[in-house]
Order: sequence, then C-alpha cells, then structure tokens
Amino acid sequence: MDKQTEFVLRTLEERDIRFVRLWFTDVLGFLKSVAVAPAELEGAFAEGIGFDGSAIEGFARVYESDMLARPDPSTFQILPWRSEAPGTARMFCDILMPDGSPSWADPRFVLKRTLARAAEMGFTFYTHPEIEFFLFERQPGPGEMPVPIDASGYFDQTAHGPGHDFRRQVITLLEAMGISVEFSHHEAAPGQQEIDLRYADALTTADNILTTRQVVKQVALEQGVFASFMPKPFTEYPGSGMHTHLSLFEGDRNAFYEPGAPYQLSKTARAFIAGILRHAPEFTAITNQWVNSYKRLWGGATRTAGAGGEAPSYICWGHNNRSALVRVPMYKPRKGNSTRIEVRSVDSACNPYLAFAVLLGAGLAGIENGYELPEGAEDDVWALTEAERRAMGIAPLPASLDEAIRAMENSELVANILGEHVFDFFLRNKREEWADYRRQVTEYERDRYLRVL
Ligand code: GLN
Ligand code: MG
Ligand code: MG
Ligand code: MG
Repeated sequence: MDKQTEFVLRTLEERDIRFVRLWFTDVLGFLKSVAVAPAELEGAFAEGIGFDGSAIEGFARVYESDMLARPDPSTFQILPWRSEAPGTARMFCDILMPDGSPSWADPRFVLKRTLARAAEMGFTFYTHPEIEFFLFERQPGPGEMPVPIDASGYFDQTAHGPGHDFRRQVITLLEAMGISVEFSHHEAAPGQQEIDLRYADALTTADNILTTRQVVKQVALEQGVFASFMPKPFTEYPGSGMHTHLSLFEGDRNAFYEPGAPYQLSKTARAFIAGILRHAPEFTAITNQWVNSYKRLWGGATRTAGAGGEAPSYICWGHNNRSALVRVPMYKPRKGNSTRIEVRSVDSACNPYLAFAVLLGAGLAGIENGYELPEGAEDDVWALTEAERRAMGIAPLPASLDEAIRAMENSELVANILGEHVFDFFLRNKREEWADYRRQVTEYERDRYLRVL
C-alpha cells in the first residue's frame, strides 16, 4: 500500500469519516458521485467500485456497461461544509474497464494522456482559471427571468452586500480543502462574480474547478440564493467566461520565458500560441460546448454597449489586447516564471479536463510542427471592418455550436486528443443539441416578425 493510500485510511479513522464520496465527471463535465463506506475503500483503491456505465452520459453502450471507479488518493479532502461528525470526504476517481484498463470514455484519462505527451516532450503544463458566474435571488421557474442578487459592477466593493459574503464563504471552504484562491471580485454584470484559482498543474486545476463549482452551488443553497455557470444568461449583459492562463515548465524553468525577446516570449511560447490560433476553430466546440456559449462569444458583435463583455469573437493574439482570443498579460520585470498566455474564449460551463486537453494538444502541435506566430493585433479587433480583418488574416471563431461542430468533425488533431470514443459521443450529443435548438420558434422571432410580416 502506498503512503497516500495509508494516509487516507488513517485519516478516515482519526477524523471519524463515515462517508466517502467518489467523484468523477461524465463527458460533458457533470459531476457524478457515489458514496461508499470506509470499509469498502481498501477494495476501491485496489480494484475500483463497480457501477453501471450505460447510465452515465457518454460512458458506455448498454452491452458493455460494467465499469469501475478507482479513487485517486492524492485528491482526498474532507468536505468542510459537512463538518458535523461523522464527517464526509471526497476523492476524484479514474474510470476503469472490468479488466482494469483505463476507460477511453473518462475525461480525466483524456487529460492524463495529453499531459503524458507533454511530459515526453519535457513539459509540465500549468493552468490558472478565472471562473465567472452569476448569483440570482432564486432559481427561476420555466419561462421566468432570473433576478440578479445585486446591481453592482466591475470590482465594486459592496461591503455587506450578498456577493461579498458569498465569495468570502466560498473561499473559506475552498481554502479548507487546500485550494488556494488568488483573487475574487464582483464582475461587470449585476450579480456576476469571479473567483480565480492559484495556478497548479492542469490535472489538479481541473479537479479544483469541479470542486469550486460544487462549493459555489453548495454555498448558494446555504445562503438561499441560486448560482449559475451558464455562459450568457442575459442579452444585455456580459456572459461568464473562464479565461485560462497557460504555461509550460521544463523542470522549474518557465519554458515560455525568454528575457530580451519581444514580450519576453520564448520560441516555445510563440509556437504554442500559433498552435492555439491555428486549431481554435477545431477545438471551440470543446471549450464552448453549449448553444448558449456562442451568445457570449458573439454578444458584443453588434457593439451594443457592454453586452459582449470582452469575450473574444476573432482568432488573433495581442499584448494586453482584451478583444483577442489569446492575450499576453503585462510582463512583470524580474518575474520570468510568471510568463504565461491567457486564452479568453473558454467558458465556465466547459468540461475542464477536455478543455485543457485540447488547449494543450493544440499548443504542442504548434511546437512540434514549428508553426510561425502571425503578427499580433494591437487594435480593438471588433472596431475593424470585415475587410480590414481579412487583410490582417484575422478569422472569426465559430459563430454557433453548429459551425463549431462542423469544424471539429474534420479535425484529426481533436480526434487524436479525445480518442475515438469521446470524439464520436461528443459530436453525436452536440448534433442532437443543435437540432433541438434549431427547430425552436423563439420570442425574438414573434416580436420581430409577427406584426410586420
Ligand atoms: N465576462 C467576460 C467574458 O465573458 C470577461 C470579463 C473580464 O474578465 N475582463 O469573457
Ligand atoms: Mg479576471
Ligand atoms: Mg473577469
Ligand atoms: Mg482575464
């Protein structure tokens, strides 16, 4: 038995933990949980706990449905909102087939495979997410408009406002679980909040994002409000993104940093950005997986004041350019290790395992094939005309889930990263979502057409 496993088993006894929740996600990133008694854990570590994979979105076909969840002891944490004894703990799981081999349907395995490829090239991959979401007074019923809990804006200090207390409680619980929060603040829209996790290796960060979503939902429940990570709840306000900062390290050296180079960006960093830009149309279905995601990306396209909220619509990069897909944040002198790039398209409702896998895979393709980084865009790319953008070689991101699916369908890169099982399931599922959406007749259409046509 290894040290971590021993530590978990000892802690369960010492802390009187009676329930251990085993967590994993389906292909779309919804958290699944099965509670086991501590007595079951030794077996769970050795062989996994059996469950019916066909009941999980994207996991298995009915005729091969037996699957196993094996907890990863390094992710063990006591749930601090369940502090009354006997306590509850949780661990993230890897999903296995009955023969003990990893399941190709497991999003965590998709990311692990991509991280292993990076490791073969000598790299560790770090990420730092800025998680945005809305707080509403209550869960709206069907057809009801959600009511934001406040009318504040960007960085507003609402001393005793509900958002302030809310963020404070979320951060307290996260810190109790060993998850460091770097920043938190009110975002631009009414009721909109942001919580930024400290950077960590991408697998840990993806686990931490799932935990954060769970804690946010939990605290909302406790405080009698309702939290949502929906990318764009309102036409007239900015949506919720999950800007993600990325860097590659070689040992403890930041491989993106080169003193004296333009923007202190190494050749590796430039090729990585080039990979992201070139493959962006192919992987956007993963980073922005819902019909509604595209309302956020294109919410500012008609330049309605503030409605787009700096979500990118065009494929370009820039130094401190907030309209770009990839931004190179301000260089801090003497802090070479903080050199990183920020990808701004990703939204808070993605599956972070899959999203990090495609971002890393696209960047590594740039490095492997020596892609050249095109000229940076220092202008506000929304303000340019279509012709100007074309002349500068700046293409749009997919305009809808449909366009994103079509671009992904032809992507050898994304197929390789996801593996055939996840790739096929995802496309099938998203085609259904699009078909269902496409046939809806909306209030917008009745308002706009009924009287005049
Ligand atoms: N909410 C904006 C988005 O959708 C981001 C705002 C910001 O953090 N600058 O991406
Ligand atoms: Mg931010
Ligand atoms: Mg923000
Ligand atoms: Mg940001």
